[in-house]
Order: sequence, then structure tokens, then C-alpha cells
Amino acid sequence: MIVVMKAGSTTEHVEHIVKLLQQMGLSGWAIDGDPRKMVEVLGVNGRVDRALLEDTPMVDRVLEEAEPILAGSRQPGDKTLEVPLCSAAGVGGRKLGIIAGPCSVESESQLLEIAAAVKEAGAVALRGGAFKPRTSPYSFQGHGERGLELLARACEETGLAVVTEVMRCEHVDLVGRYADVLQVGSRSMHNTHLLATVGRQSKPILLKRGWSATLEEFLLAAEYVMLEGNRNIILCERGIRTHETYVRNTLALAIVPEVKRVSRLPIIVDPSHGTGQSHLVTPMSNAAIACGADGLLVEVHHSPPQAWTDGEQSLDLEQFCSLMKGLKAFAAAVDREL
Ligand code: PEP
Ligand code: MN
Repeated sequence: MIVVMKAGSTTEHVEHIVKLLQQMGLSGWAIDGDPRKMVEVLGVNGRVDRALLEDTPMVDRVLEEAEPILAGSRQPGDKTLEVPLCSAAGVGGRKLGIIAGPCSVESESQLLEIAAAVKEAGAVALRGGAFKPRTSPYSFQGHGERGLELLARACEETGLAVVTEVMRCEHVDLVGRYADVLQVGSRSMHNTHLLATVGRQSKPILLKRGWSATLEEFLLAAEYVMLEGNRNIILCERGIRTHETYVRNTLALAIVPEVKRVSRLPIIVDPSHGTGQSHLVTPMSNAAIACGADGLLVEVHHSPPQAWTDGEQSLDLEQFCSLMKGLKAFAAAVDREL
């Protein structure tokens, strides 16, 4: 049960509710929500005097569960929130947000060549990992701050926004100095400390779905960010783990129209990690846009066979150009543009 306070209520009003709950033999967990303060009632078991709570000054409503007050939830008539990638582009409006680039930042020449090509093809942001979440500790872990510097350079030259992953709370300030958008990866979606930390800074967040997370868990991870004040969140479907072996992950595209039904947050699709196979990237990109996605996150490399990470799922520059050309018709069919 949640007691939602009226706008303008103070800590004293909240403390009064907590005291009332204690008198009922219950406990209260104060939530400093933005813009509403709330109190979760702990230990309910039928002993709660709901009418008393509802009649207390500055109480707005008492709800059975958190769902109707989730910051990202969509009410009838709500539009998708438009999240800025940089001053010139966003995700969630009529124009699709296409984010492309290598899995990992490898070298200056690699990044500059890829950045120029994806910009030319119509991407609005450059992706690239400087801190890489790897399954094996013996695999390349990324160039760290040097990688961030290279990303910032490539974006200065091309005008693209920088999207890159942050894995640790202590790196949030550092990554935020170079990036326009902070990516919280699939492995980190359950890291509530990291979610709260990125929620306390102002750069937009690209939140990837954990590969075994349900839609509800995915949306609640976004709430952790929003509760701290940062509402600029782009959700990203990147495939889930199933019994299937012909793909690296199973791209669960039905999540796109479902997110559109229940949430105001924009959602993009990553067909690269979502399939693990470069020949599946273009058809799944088309399908993602056709079912309402607000953009794509695509791995692109100038020479996929030589890529340090994820070469088998990376498009080469020509393939990415063809993807962008072919995508126009799919975008037009759902009244969107590239
Ligand atoms: C990535 O996009 O670089 C990445 C590591 O993806 P995920 O977190 O979805 O595995
Ligand atoms: Mn990758």
C-alpha cells in the first residue's frame, strides 16, 4: 500500500504519516519522489486504517500498489517522452533516433572512419564501448578514459552525439564528462546503486533490458533512475536468453508495442546483440521500426572480420548504408522519418 502526499507536502507531513502508521502497529518507508513524496506502508496484514490515512491533511490518495503512480506510466492521451541525444537530435519524436558505431573503441583511425560513415548514412549518434562488460575477465575490457577521449574527438569532428556505457558508480562523473548519453548495459540493469547514481546526474540514460528481465523488472529499473530526478531515459530491447541457439539472443519485439501501451518512455531496439548475426540485423531493424520502435542501436565496423569484439554481428559500412536506405520505406509506413 502506498500513501501519496499532495504536492507541496513537507518532511513533517510525511513524518506525521509514519507516526500514524506506528500507532496502527505498522511501519512506513518514506519515498522522496519527484514531484510527490510518498510513504510505503509496511506490514499491512489488514490492520491499516485506510480512512484515517485518507483524511489526514496533505494526503492525496492511498493506493493498493505502486503501479498507478509509476513515473514512466502512460495515461490515456499521453505522448511518448522525447529524450534529447544532444542539442540537435532526440529519441521519441517523429524522427527516428539511429545510433550506430563499433562494439568497442579500438583506435583513433577506426573510430573516425566509422563515425564519418555512419554520419553520412544518417545516424544521429555514435556508439562505442570504452568500458566493456565482458563475460570473460581475460577478454579485452576497453580502453577506459582513452576510449572516451577518442569518442569525444570523433563526435567533435562529425557532430554526432556520444553514447557509451558506464558500468561503475565511481565512473559516472568521468563518463558523463565525455558522453552525451550514458548507457546502462544489460548486465547492469539490476544494479540499483548504479541506476540511482545515474539518476542523480543530468545526462540522458540509455537503459538496456537485462537478458532475463521481465518487462515489469525493466520498467522498475527505469523507475530507480526517475525517482532520483532524471526522467530522460531511453529503453533499449536487446534480446533475451532462451533455449534457441541459431541466434545469440532472442529479439522479443512484442515488447515495443507493449511499452508503447504502458509507458511514456521511448524504446529503441538493438538488433545486433538481439541476434548476434550480421545477416539478421537488417530484417530485424526493419521489423523494429515497423512495430513502432523510436530508433535503433546498431553495431557497425569498417572491417567486421577484424573487429576486436562482436565482429560477427557488426554490419560493414556499405551494409549500414543499405540498411538506412531500406529503412526509409518502413519509417514512412508508420508515419516516421529518418
Ligand atoms: C553494448 O551495447 O555494448 C553491450 C555490451 O550490450 P548489452 O549490454 O546489451 O550486452
Ligand atoms: Mn557488442
